[in-house]
Amino acid sequence: MTSLVSVVAPIYNEGPGVDRFVRRLGEVLGEAGLRYELVLVDDGSSDDSWDRISRQALLDDRVRGIQLSRNFGKEPAVLAGLEHAAGDAVVVIDSDLQHPPGAIPAMVQRWQDGAHVVEAVKRNRTGQGLIGRLGGKLFNRAFTGLTKVDLVDATDFRLLSRPALEALLRLPEHSSFFRGTSSWIGFRRATIEVDIDHREGGASRWTFRSLFRLAVNGITSFSSAPLHLVTLMGLAFAGFAVVLGAQTLIRWLRGGSVAGFPTVILLLLVLGTFILLGLGVIGEYLARIHEEVRGRPRYLVQEKSVRAAVPEQWMA
Ligand code: UDP
Ligand code: MG
Repeated sequence: MTSLVSVVAPIYNEGPGVDRFVRRLGEVLGEAGLRYELVLVDDGSSDDSWDRISRQALLDDRVRGIQLSRNFGKEPAVLAGLEHAAGDAVVVIDSDLQHPPGAIPAMVQRWQDGAHVVEAVKRNRTGQGLIGRLGGKLFNRAFTGLTKVDLVDATDFRLLSRPALEALLRLPEHSSFFRGTSSWIGFRRATIEVDIDHREGGASRWTFRSLFRLAVNGITSFSSAPLHLVTLMGLAFAGFAVVLGAQTLIRWLRGGSVAGFPTVILLLLVLGTFILLGLGVIGEYLARIHEEVRGRPRYLVQEKSVRAAVPEQWMA
């Protein structure tokens, strides 16, 4: 039997986009003659996305839907899809058609040629404002620098072989960061270049806040460099304090006057800033530890789609 390719897509309030997405994937994958399944994860949508998913599942045996019990966020939704995928290879793709489904056959080809992880890297970044573009670039560079896990121009649009997927699912972290963990696992990898399209319908689900959270989560789960940075900053200030103290002491011993007020205010402000920053950084890590220790499940499933009554042998 030819190998099965699972396509996992998180869906949050995509509405009519769901049908468009399923149709487009059917076209592309059918044309390429691939045996596939679609795992659509409804991330607690408040619109009719789940109705559309269940209808698609009823119409087509290859479409499977999983509905989470509330909005858990994109990362847990992707994880849910990965855990439910049955394929020999799994492709993770956004459901808003910003990731071109047309690239999937090429990714599958790379996998059949021996790669375990096939990453789609972006040739462009249309569909994002200048700030989003700069922010994304800056974050990817910072992440790469801090963690030695290369994320430059990376996307979440990836193919994982079954062994790579099993490895990924063995990671026990609760706040997973797919783009990072799927790089961290290693394995033979290949990249293909894609053009990221404009969003078709609806608006991006990301707000500045949620992006900031994603960035902080990503970095804190991969690197303790910020903690070391705080230590270094502390050391630098200690050195500064010793020098300043010595200078002041010498002046005082020589009977000179010490201009105090502005210096004191300035030092207080600077020190206060760094102490608070340091506490904040430590707090971020503490919060993560707290989250991991609690060990709550990363997502909860409310419902699964009913399978279409199509006998197995009808399928290619
Ligand atoms: N998404 C999700 N849960 C969320 C937010 C987004 O499952 O809480 C899905 C969304 O349906 C889409 C993908 O994640 O398929 C990417 O979301 P979006 O297009 O809003 O992000 P962007 O493309 O702007 O990075
Ligand atoms: Mg999008």
